[in-house]
Amino acid sequence: MRFDLIAFDADDTLWHNETLYSLTQEKFQALLSSYGFGPEQVDQELYTTEMGNLPFFGYGIKSYILSMIETVVRLTGGRVTASEIQQIVDFAKEMVQAEVELLENVQDTVAKLADKSPLMLITKGDLLDQERKLDRSGLLDSFQYIEIVSEKDSARYAALLARHRVEPERFLMVGNSLRSDILPVVAIGGQAVYIPYHLTWAHENEVDPDQHGKGYYELEHIGQLPELLEKLEREA
Ligand SMILES: [Mg+2]
Repeated sequence: MRFDLIAFDADDTLWHNETLYSLTQEKFQALLSSYGFGPEQVDQELYTTEMGNLPFFGYGIKSYILSMIETVVRLTGGRVTASEIQQIVDFAKEMVQAEVELLENVQDTVAKLADKSPLMLITKGDLLDQERKLDRSGLLDSFQYIEIVSEKDSARYAALLARHRVEPERFLMVGNSLRSDILPVVAIGGQAVYIPYHLTWAHENEVDPDQHGKGYYELEHIGQLPELLEKLEREA
């Protein structure tokens, strides 16, 4: 095999995720519209709060909901009601209970590749939520390794590969985020396959896509991955 380890991002690479955030954000916009705030301003204010909170709370639904509460308190000057805060907490409970919906071609592709190579799942987010989604996805048996991490940067990828005794050039990462899945892997000498999702959280877009050098591929959907791997194999 050309690679000793193939790793996948989870959210918006294997299953739909950003759609859920986007639906929840519409509910949040509706709540704040009664205080006279437009959707764009709400999105902007929430994003600012989220960025400020990343170092404190990290990624995932709990962090997102805390940022909503903080934003609504700030924007309403403390006039938000306790029952509205409860509504926001309920948004979070709905989110963690949502169905896990796989992207097209995921099941077949993952099963196919799992036969040939050890597969790893590398994801950020809340531990409990990500474990639950993986359980519900039906994909658990295809992955030999599961890594739920607080951040995906070059240092974390390098440490993870060292721990698993995999050389970066023998590692391939597949994901929908240039910032988290592609650029940090390419930067340490790994290979990466970028498969954009139709919705991307602004934070994951805050990169210069021209930063990447060699070892970067782009596909339209995951179903094209086995063919790309065969091609790389032949070239090797
Ligand atoms: Mg993702």
